[in-house]
Amino acid sequence: MKLIVFILLFLSIAAHADDTDYAAERAALIEELGYYARLVGDMDGAGFSEAVLASMTSVKRHRFVPPAQVRFAYENQPLPIGHGQTISQPYIVALMTELVEPDADDVILEVGTGSGYQAAVLAELVDHVYSIEIIEPLANGAKQRLAQLGYTNITTRLGDGYYGWEDHAPFDAIVVTAAASHVPPPLIEQLKPGGRMVIPVGGRFMTQLLLLLEKTDEGEVITRQIAAVRFVPLTGAH
Ligand code: SAM
Repeated sequence: MKLIVFILLFLSIAAHADDTDYAAERAALIEELGYYARLVGDMDGAGFSEAVLASMTSVKRHRFVPPAQVRFAYENQPLPIGHGQTISQPYIVALMTELVEPDADDVILEVGTGSGYQAAVLAELVDHVYSIEIIEPLANGAKQRLAQLGYTNITTRLGDGYYGWEDHAPFDAIVVTAAASHVPPPLIEQLKPGGRMVIPVGGRFMTQLLLLLEKTDEGEVITRQIAAVRFVPLTGAH
């Protein structure tokens, strides 16, 4: 009898652990992000918009990290996702999302799917996200995860994002989540007039700069330096 009670108790604890929503941890992180944004002033002193904070609140970061990292999922730090890659720091995900000024009817390209987290945060706010990942197991894992979570407005593929995704271009915005040595010309080409691109630029052992590029209606590109950042490198044959 004691054994049955013990087994039932164990099963109930296990089921509960699996169901844990981390809502309180997520809310605390979102509050921290709002405070941090005002403190560092990367957006000219403005904080995050309600829409971006709502998206960060609704996407459950713990569903995008390996089991051993779940307990750190709501700390404001990057975490390993395998294959030498990382899921970006939540502040940086929110910042990149805010900088591209997502609109409900936007179509966005992301380069560097990784875990799929940034794609999910964007997908809450826009019409469609196309995302490219160069490492096959990560691409497969993200595709499966995003399908399981019910995202029907994210399309992923394996490939080198340096060349963009011609078939779905031009894009209202492009988010590059790996550091490039220069802004890839095909991505500038695939940005709509009036569109915005956010991209970290710099070498592996150098300070990288998060750049915001805006393409005017006349096709001119205006570049602003936003913040010093540290990303894994954009790899590939280019
Ligand atoms: N956005 C991801 C997320 O939310 O988990 C985090 C991205 S991680 C910082 C950068 C990702 O870019 C890695 O998964 C890496 O394999 C990928 N990557 C690097 N070079 C790439 C390339 N040329 N094309 C596509 N993906 C690339």
